[in-house]
Amino acid sequence: MPVPCAIDTGWPRARAGAVLTIDLAAIRANYRLLRARAEGAECAAVVKADAYGLGAAQVAPALEAEGARTFFVAHIDEGIALRRHVSPGARIIVLHGALPETEDECVRHDLVPVINDLDQLRRWRVLAATLARPLPAVLQLDTGMSRFGLSERDVGAIAEDPDALRGIDVCLVMSHLACADDPDDPASNRQRARLLHLRGALPRAPASLAASSGIFLGPDFHFDLVRPGAALYGVAPDATRPNPLHPVVRLQARVLQTRVVGPDDGVGYGLTYRPASPRRIATIAVGYADGFMRCGAGDGCAWLDGVRLPVLGRISMDSMTIDVTDAPERLIRPGATVDLLDTRRGVDDVARAAGTIGYEILTSLGRRYHRAYVADHAPADL
Ligand SMILES: *Cc1c(COP(=O)(O)O)cnc(C)c1O
Repeated sequence: MPVPCAIDTGWPRARAGAVLTIDLAAIRANYRLLRARAEGAECAAVVKADAYGLGAAQVAPALEAEGARTFFVAHIDEGIALRRHVSPGARIIVLHGALPETEDECVRHDLVPVINDLDQLRRWRVLAATLARPLPAVLQLDTGMSRFGLSERDVGAIAEDPDALRGIDVCLVMSHLACADDPDDPASNRQRARLLHLRGALPRAPASLAASSGIFLGPDFHFDLVRPGAALYGVAPDATRPNPLHPVVRLQARVLQTRVVGPDDGVGYGLTYRPASPRRIATIAVGYADGFMRCGAGDGCAWLDGVRLPVLGRISMDSMTIDVTDAPERLIRPGATVDLLDTRRGVDDVARAAGTIGYEILTSLGRRYHRAYVADHAPADL
């Protein structure tokens, strides 16, 4: 597959309020690192939610070029859209499975549903009988998260009914860990034991338990296939250790206007920031409509060459105001840029300041950014 290189999508760069640079080479390097950590298991790639907001149309082909053969999405429509961007032999697994009367869409677009309950299983079996050919499926087992999957009782019912899996080619049994980001949490071992137990009652099939964080719990958790998502995109798998993954995104916001404010002034809606002494401030072209949440303003900041530029007052829909007193004045002019995300300050740092997790920062990244994809590590400056 050709690897897209420096494809620009979105607004023309010169007019854009912010530029989001997505490093496909870093995503590929993260895939290699995760595959090596889970040696012996197949390394699938989770590209749901448009590859966590980074663009499945660009990300999935890059991962396929790196050797990924199995892709996970959440919805059938995500699978249909992804089909056009990967080769015909690539396997696309739909985590939510098929809603009633949408099973034939899975067949038409060559998508493998995850079966989460007995009714989904029955409907898939009926379709296989109608088409008179075996249909592939993934069985999800609930091992303790109580979110998706067949219960112990459901597994018992399948084990007792010789026709339960008739016409169904079970290509994977899977479950999902609730507490994998804390290596000391005993819940992960309990879930692993339950997977082994439930799996024993079913016909032999490859198994999968680990997403990003689960890979770092060690080989006992790898089984036959691992399913990283967030780690591919640079999110730390475990907050207690240094992040071994490469940063993937850089977000540069444009300065729109600057001014000097003093003790008689207030800044932004509600005038919640009032300077004690004169400050130089800049308004930049990213706001909460671009994923920088109003509630995260407190410890938020931008950066310029290592100089911290704190967010002042409330974040507006299309802009926010930052303190640029400590930055060289000549570098902070309309049209110049400051970094909101970069290699030193990644999605996890921004998430911490906003009281959330890196996953939410990535999947909230705005649609108004100019997006630049780079397939090498050359810095992408404006
Ligand atoms: C989202 C998801 C993944 C990927 O999780 P990450 O923590 O992003 O690696 C894997 N498996 C299932 C079932 C998921 O829902």
